[in-house]
Amino acid sequence: MNLIDMHCDTAGKILDSKNGESLRENPFSVNLEGMKKAGTMAQFFANFIYLKQFQGEDKYERLYERAMCMIRRIKEEVGACSKEMALALNAQDILHNKETGKISAVLTLEEGGIINHDIHKLDELYREGIRLVTLMWNFENCMGFPNSTDAEIMQKGLKAFGFEVIERMNELGMLVDVAHMSDGGFWDAVRFSKAPIVASHSNARSLCAHPRNLTDEMLKALGEKGGVAGVNFYPRFVREDMIAMREDLARHIKHMVNMAGIDAVAVGTDFDGFDYSDGTLEIDKSEKMDILCHQLQKDGFSEGQIDKIWSGNAMRVIEEVMG
Ligand SMILES: [Zn+2]
Repeated sequence: MNLIDMHCDTAGKILDSKNGESLRENPFSVNLEGMKKAGTMAQFFANFIYLKQFQGEDKYERLYERAMCMIRRIKEEVGACSKEMALALNAQDILHNKETGKISAVLTLEEGGIINHDIHKLDELYREGIRLVTLMWNFENCMGFPNSTDAEIMQKGLKAFGFEVIERMNELGMLVDVAHMSDGGFWDAVRFSKAPIVASHSNARSLCAHPRNLTDEMLKALGEKGGVAGVNFYPRFVREDMIAMREDLARHIKHMVNMAGIDAVAVGTDFDGFDYSDGTLEIDKSEKMDILCHQLQKDGFSEGQIDKIWSGNAMRVIEEVMG
């Protein structure tokens, strides 16, 4: 079955590795062999930037430079697998790559705050091949506020620049990703965006009460908007006791389908994006994705339904937004 995984943090792990790890060969959760075994059609690679990594007056320049560095590196890694992989900028690229037996790499930015009020940097990122921006991470930034256990922060909406960014992303054909955002920001984005939006790696809050997850109302709104939510494997977002077995992931998928609709659920594993000692994760590598597929079959999902979750829904949104 074709898979589109809308979120992994492997790009940062490769950039920071001291052992010369590559995308082709590494001990992480996502590598070339694993993607092949998973039947990956497209893997989204997040270029995640930790907003507090640098201090001082030039911190935003340095953060932006780090993002550019990471983007260059992941492109080189994909280039080094040019027989098996290629960059994709739209749905047509993904289909073309698939026809020629190649896995697509879709580049994303996680932490829109690095552009620091400079809308031209968004255009530059687009030219560099970035096709999805996760506007927020877990800090307040120039666009808005993060998910939080503090109710006051959680209800805060987007800032003026956040609206400006969404407007420009709609024009450019970039996916607006509301994962990590405050609830108030989510509702602003849903109402304001002209195009469907995504929560690339977020689960159901009614099954696991973490502010990173989506409420039933949010899931419904996402579905009505034509967007998708990608099921996240991080144990902390799956079960409050931080155990993520196949049945638990399937339970989230089932609930998300019940709330958002069968056309609004996708996969956003978050592989390589968290501490693996932080809880128990059964499916910890892309090559084990078939375990979840079989669980869904066991739970009564049809082939057609699984196909939508695995790739069809993500593909529809990619086509609608990126062209
Ligand atoms: Zn994330």
